[in-house]
Amino acid sequence: MRALAKTSPGPGLELIDAPEPHPQPHEVKIRVLRAGLCGTDLHIESWDDWAASMLKPPLVVGHELYGEIVEIGANVPRAAAPYEIKEGMRASAEGHVICGVCRNCRSGRPHVCVNTSSVGVNRDGGFADYVCVPYTNVWVQPDDLDPDLGSIFDPLGNAVHTALTFPIAGDDVMITGCGPIGVMATAIARHVGARFVVATDVSDFRLEMARRAGADHAVNVARERVAPYQRELGMLLGFDVGLEMSGSPAALKELIDNCQHGAGIAMLGLPSEPFAVDWGPVITRMLTIKGIYGRQMYDTWYRMSFMLQTSAELRERIRSVITHRYRAEQWQDAFAAARSGECGKVIMDWS
Ligand code: ZN
Repeated sequence: MRALAKTSPGPGLELIDAPEPHPQPHEVKIRVLRAGLCGTDLHIESWDDWAASMLKPPLVVGHELYGEIVEIGANVPRAAAPYEIKEGMRASAEGHVICGVCRNCRSGRPHVCVNTSSVGVNRDGGFADYVCVPYTNVWVQPDDLDPDLGSIFDPLGNAVHTALTFPIAGDDVMITGCGPIGVMATAIARHVGARFVVATDVSDFRLEMARRAGADHAVNVARERVAPYQRELGMLLGFDVGLEMSGSPAALKELIDNCQHGAGIAMLGLPSEPFAVDWGPVITRMLTIKGIYGRQMYDTWYRMSFMLQTSAELRERIRSVITHRYRAEQWQDAFAAARSGECGKVIMDWS
C-alpha cells in the first residue's frame, strides 16, 4: 500500500510502498479516503526538537483521518445498533489512544490518561491506504457525511472541547489565533449562542476566514488593539470567556487585558517556549485559566456530531475552513500549502 512515512530520524518524509497492516486483537482496519494535515505533521516533517524526542522511525504519519471500515480484528465486541461497528461503515478516528488501566482511565477520565499514545506519532498513522486503530477509537459516521468533513473531526473536536469548556451562551467571547481550530471555535461559539465573538490574528487571510465563520469582528493585532472594538460593540466590562488558540505570549496578554472579572480562559495553543505572565490581573480579577489538550472522550465526539447533524449553517461554516485539497501523490504541495500561512485546513485525498 501507499504510505507517507518517516523512514529514518531527520527532516523529510517519503511516500513508500509499505505492507498492509493487519488488525491486532481489539483493532479495526480502515481504508483511508481522506486525511487532514495538522501542525503536528509539519513538526514531524521538519524534525524539530519535539519530533526528535517523540518519534521512533520507521513510522507512518498522520492522525486526522476518515475512511471505510474494511476489517474487524479479534475480540472486538459485537454491539447492537446503534453502537455496532461493521465492515462497510464509514468512520473517523480519535487520534489519542488511551491505556485503559491507569488511575485516570479507570476513574472515567480517559482524556487525561497518563499513558496516552498518538496515532501517527507513537504508532502508525493515517497517511496511508490503510490504518488500524483500537475499536474504541473508531467513530462511526453517517453514510451521507461529506468525507472532507469526516477527515477533520479530530481538530474540530479540539475546537469544540475548547469552546465548550466554559458556558458561553449569551456571553461575549474573545478568540486569539485564527488557524483552523480557532476558526472552527468561532463557528461553534456562534452556533451555541454567544452574544459577541471577536477573533484576533496577525494574518488577514485567516481573519477573513474567521469573519466567514461568524466573528463579529476579526482584528489584526499587528495593526490594531481589541479594546476599541469592545467599546464599539457596547460591551461595558470585557469578555466573559477567552479561547487562546495561538500559543503566542502577546495574545495571552491581550486576552487577559480584555477579559472581565471572573472570566474563564481556555488555552489550547501550545507555546513554543516558556514565557512570563503578569499574574496580577489574573489574581485580582479572579480569572480561571484551564489547559485543553485533545478531546473529551467521548463527550466531545457526541456533541460535535450532534451539532453538525442539525445545522446546515454550522456544517457550511466548518467546511469553509478547508481551503486546499491534494491527491496523496501531491503530498509535498500539501505540506507547502500548510506551511504557507495562506491556508485553512489542507486535506489529502487517499481514495
Ligand atoms: Zn490511562
